[in-house]
Amino acid sequence: PIYLDYNATCPVDPRVLEAMLPYFTEHFGNAASRSHLLGWTAKDAVETAREQIAELLQASTKEIVFTSGATEANNLALKGVFESVFPQKNHIITVQTEHKAVLDVCLHLEKMGAETTFLQPDEFGSVTIEQIEEAIRPETFLISIMYANNEIGTIQEIEAIGTLAQKHKILFHSDATQAVGKVQIDVKAAKIDLLSLSGHKLYGPKGIGVLYINRNLKNQDLVAQMDGGKHERGFRSGTLNVPAIVGLGKACEIANAELLTESITLSKLRDCLEQGILSQIKGTKVNGNTNNRLPNLTNISFEGVDGELLLSSFRDIAVSSGSACTSASVEPSHVLKAIGVSDKLAYSSIRFSLGRFTNQEEIDFTIQYVKEVVETLRA
Ligand code: PMP
Repeated sequence: PIYLDYNATCPVDPRVLEAMLPYFTEHFGNAASRSHLLGWTAKDAVETAREQIAELLQASTKEIVFTSGATEANNLALKGVFESVFPQKNHIITVQTEHKAVLDVCLHLEKMGAETTFLQPDEFGSVTIEQIEEAIRPETFLISIMYANNEIGTIQEIEAIGTLAQKHKILFHSDATQAVGKVQIDVKAAKIDLLSLSGHKLYGPKGIGVLYINRNLKNQDLVAQMDGGKHERGFRSGTLNVPAIVGLGKACEIANAELLTESITLSKLRDCLEQGILSQIKGTKVNGNTNNRLPNLTNISFEGVDGELLLSSFRDIAVSSGSACTSASVEPSHVLKAIGVSDKLAYSSIRFSLGRFTNQEEIDFTIQYVKEVVETLRA
């Protein structure tokens, strides 16, 4: 099938794979081994990757902490800060459209005494600065708002949120899993204290991610959730996954060099797909903020078709439904629900996410194919 599900995961870029391979075999050392060349070689490779990642974020190498992915980075950010401020402070501000790797961490922390405000976004998935400011309490210690939404692509006003958080002396965490490599990020300009990313969303391997931790945060400000050999300056113990780290570094280097041109190419292809579908198929509507969203994504609702049937009929294209398949149960997407899409329409909403290896031919095919499938199901 034609792969249009890059927001779920990306293939590893061949250049990334090539960079990784020697670190499985000849350079297999433990980056924490100080007494021999194998260790130093691994450590050097990790430090190079740290530079490549820091450069993409406009951060410094000391601020990069490796994790197993964005899920772990989000967990470390929220739980780590909570543990350091509780019980003096206990309030988190976040948004209903966050990934479950933030929402469910908040629910977990609520059982331990935290209180959460889950802001309701507007119909495009955006929250306003006024809305956030109104929610601030004396006990608020963290604002956690994603950079860009994984389902509808809406990009939030990150710099303004960072400025607001700083004004109120509240930490700002942003899950930037879907933004890194797709839009330019400057953690300093945006006044972000903590930022999560995941390797496989930018053509790196799965199972590796980063929590950017602003250098002003010390170990007592962010309590480690993984104790042990005090790797990663004590923030996250565990032997480093050197090949994956090398791969993530390479992926960031490529993104840094190609992001601008790639985002232009992708948004043209995306617009072509979107316009094709909207103009050729009646009863279709785009979800999300078309004025400020990821360049590679469109989320479209198809009226008058059964959602489950629609998705299962798409045999020649790999896309995902607006409904999140959490384990076995298919529920309507909490993101679409939060922006006011009815359950029925949420079921028949499809996320098309394009990527580095998508071409015009695939887009042309997809438009015709989607048209045929939808018309057949409606008939
Ligand atoms: N946050 C967002 C916004 C995501 O899209 C994802 C991946 N679907 C994650 C977090 C989790 O990333 P990972 O599974 O790599 O830990």
